[in-house]
Amino acid sequence: MIFIPTRSAGLERLADFLPRAGRAYAANRNHDNGWPTDGGSRPNVSQLSPWLHSGLLSEREVIEAVLEEHSPDAAEKFVMEVFWRIYFKGYLEQHPGAWGRYCANRDTALRRIEGDTGLHALYLQATEGRTGIAVFDHWAKELVETGYLHNHARMWFASLWIFTLGLDWELGADFFLRHLIDGDAASNTLSWRWVGGLHTKGKTYLAQPENIARFTANHPLGPFYADGLAQEAQALKEPVMPARKPLDLPHRFDLGTLREPYALILHDEAASAVPFDLPYPPAIVIGAARPEARSPYPVGKPARAFAESAVLSGAQDAEQTYNAPFVTWTRDLALADILGTTNVQQVVLPYLPTGWTRDALMPHIASLLSDRRARVLLNDLNRATWPYATAGFFGVKKRIDHILAGLGSPGRISSAST
Ligand SMILES: Cc1cc2nc3c(=O)[nH]c(=O)nc-3n(C[C@H](O)[C@H](O)[C@H](O)COP(=O)(O)OP(=O)(O)OC[C@H]3O[C@@H](n4cnc5c(N)ncnc54)[C@H](O)[C@@H]3O)c2cc1C
Repeated sequence: MIFIPTRSAGLERLADFLPRAGRAYAANRNHDNGWPTDGGSRPNVSQLSPWLHSGLLSEREVIEAVLEEHSPDAAEKFVMEVFWRIYFKGYLEQHPGAWGRYCANRDTALRRIEGDTGLHALYLQATEGRTGIAVFDHWAKELVETGYLHNHARMWFASLWIFTLGLDWELGADFFLRHLIDGDAASNTLSWRWVGGLHTKGKTYLAQPENIARFTANHPLGPFYADGLAQEAQALKEPVMPARKPLDLPHRFDLGTLREPYALILHDEAASAVPFDLPYPPAIVIGAARPEARSPYPVGKPARAFAESAVLSGAQDAEQTYNAPFVTWTRDLALADILGTTNVQQVVLPYLPTGWTRDALMPHIASLLSDRRARVLLNDLNRATWPYATAGFFGVKKRIDHILAGLGSPGRISSAST
């Protein structure tokens, strides 16, 4: 198995990748070199996204490890990519309407294909890899089988989906979320919007056959030559988005001020307690994985298995570290019932970013938050970065040095302010 849903496997992946995270990454990252079962390998990218998305590894520890190994100049490209992830999360926090609108439009589009035989057939051809565009069909199958696609393949796939096949982008984003092990509400929704010309207004991404052939040249089945692709990409249109919502971040608090024992909730986006470095141990650990909330349609096996096992492994680690019993919070249980079986009335949980995990868990936690029986942890890197993620990435990019210096992290990203 390539993606093992434990923190220790993520740390091994990071250690293995570190020597290549500098100039080699910057030079080679855009090549899609294929999946091992096709005879390929991907030493040119980290493939750390499943551990970052699940919170088994934190962005900060990954960035700091890379900056310990490489000069800031050499590490710049990799660090910047990790900041794209943080930027997208901060942007969606301030534009939750982009998520809400995506969910509503996805549901409408799913209903539409169910009522339209021709559209339904096209949708099935696309998701089952039977369009006749060989390269697209390859990626569709690779995604379903492995739960991962290279970044360039994601861009090409999304571009073909929207501009060549003419399908609703929300259906493609849903297909990705149901199958990507690293499926992330912010990175996925905003990247699809970016390809379609909705994120950077009017700027679309058109997949070019020469570009696909060039960057799949080392693929064991490549180079891929794609015929019949759209020649132009007209930006999609949508009603004006609601104005930016100011960030409402949880106050920092000292766990020591909790007078009672507390339950720690681990979830799909924060499956490990280690990055939080808790100064006081929880009395119980509650694991709440909700991969099925990604979509009204079934979620693929690799994505579901990784999410569930990540939360399980993170909760088991916490159980051992803190000698605190661990309980699984399944969908059919109310949180109050779990707490009712213990003497614990306070809960502490890592921040629930905009997305399906928040949608699934927040209804159970909202009343505890208003009674101040629930407290929320937010890591310092997100806290420091999100206020700059108000519009384009540049607002974050030019402050990366400042943000890292404020956290006492090593290194400067030399061109961050250019
Ligand atoms: C249409 C589309 C959908 C996407 N959906 C997702 C998604 O659901 N979840 C997800 O994590 N990423 C998504 N991405 C971003 C990117 O493709 C993946 O993060 C990356 O391919 C993961 O592989 P890696 O870990 O080897 O990346 P590396 O190249 O090794 O990069 C290191 C880390 O930086 C972050 N990163 C890299 N590139 C990007 C990027 N373009 N945007 C945001 N973060 C980035 C990831 O956390 C990644 O693990 C999407 C991109 C596109 C174009």
